Amino acid sequence: MRIIMLGAPGAGKGTQAKKIAEKYGIPHISTGDIFRANIKNGTELGKKAKTYMDQGLLVPDELTCDLVVDRIQQPDAQKGYVLDGFPRTIPQAECLTDALNKLNSKIDYAIDVDVPDENIVNRMSGRRACLKCGATYHIVYAAPKAEGVCDVCGEPLVLRDDDKPETVSKRLKVYHEQTQPLIDYYTGQGVLKTVDGTRNLDEVFQSITEILGE
Ligand code: AMP
Repeated sequence: MRIIMLGAPGAGKGTQAKKIAEKYGIPHISTGDIFRANIKNGTELGKKAKTYMDQGLLVPDELTCDLVVDRIQQPDAQKGYVLDGFPRTIPQAECLTDALNKLNSKIDYAIDVDVPDENIVNRMSGRRACLKCGATYHIVYAAPKAEGVCDVCGEPLVLRDDDKPETVSKRLKVYHEQTQPLIDYYTGQGVLKTVDGTRNLDEVFQSITEILGE
């Protein structure tokens, strides 16, 4: 099963993507996580990506697409994958479609987790992340067991630079201009499914499993 998650930053698509990956036994491929791992390891890619990410801007398409096309050809992705945060622009979507055509493959579902802008800003200010293992939490909707501490590895949790309020409004603007057109793109491919992302995470996941099947 090959799945793309669409939705504004903070719509909860990362959380849902992880749950899908776990239930269906396919890898969760998050370009944001890949960039953050590169930043942490001080790679050239990480250095380039950081300058864009810290400003709430998208990393250029040419740095992103090759990375994903390579990742989806790894052995663990042969039965499928869930892409989270990619594609984010029409050129990225076209690049993915071309690569999949060459591989005789296709996307089965593009799931749009739909949340209005006014809910997003409120949600993002409550996000907390573990920079060590990449786990994410929300102080109200998905709180860690102990306040401010990662359940998985015990590291202190932080508000990521790109989740700070000033960056969030910029990211929403970028989302509407560059990523929302993908809804029409995947509607055109006949694979778009929309779920109401304003409900709690179990309800959203229930709707997603109804779409994907048991
Ligand atoms: P995310 O964790 O998916 O919210 O991504 C965090 C940041 O990483 C974004 O605001 C972008 O700066 C960058 N990023 C992640 N995925 C992409 C992508 N597909 N294209 C361009 N930039 C991306």
